Amino acid sequence: MAGYFYCQHCGMRSRKNPRLKTRQKYCGRRSCQQSRKNIWERERLKKDSSYRKKRHGQKARWRDIHKADQYQKVYRKNHPDYVTDNRERQRLRNKNVQKAISGFLRSNIVKTDTLIAERPVSCGLYEILPYKTGLGKKIVKTDALIVELRACRGLQKVLVSDPG
Ligand SMILES: [Zn+2]
Repeated sequence: MAGYFYCQHCGMRSRKNPRLKTRQKYCGRRSCQQSRKNIWERERLKKDSSYRKKRHGQKARWRDIHKADQYQKVYRKNHPDYVTDNRERQRLRNKNVQKAISGFLRSNIVKTDTLIAERPVSCGLYEILPYKTGLGKKIVKTDALIVELRACRGLQKVLVSDPG
């Protein structure tokens, strides 16, 4: 007599396998069967020390053959199309990131009359002086060093050549 049961992994109602003698807990889906195997192995490793030792040896041998640090290298060597495609996709991703950054900079600056240039200050000689506020004015940000840049045309006259 065929009946139904609810899978312990996916919770779906499934038809019982008539060939199974024990109570069926998992359906035939791949992920459910893998879950069943994982639970079985976990329990076995916990309880059976000889099984644990055997599996430890198997895993160690597998790791010796399949070096983790070589995996990506071997994969790339065996899949040249992947390498070419991935390189092209990365180039595109980099381009998109650059586009997003420049878009962000363009769109998120509220002060539209701000000077946005690679070099807002032109090359030359400047004096850096501590900025003094006028009477009655106060700088709220007390930990900032606020300086005044003053272009100096007459500074060249003061400079002397360094022999060293
Ligand atoms: Zn299932």
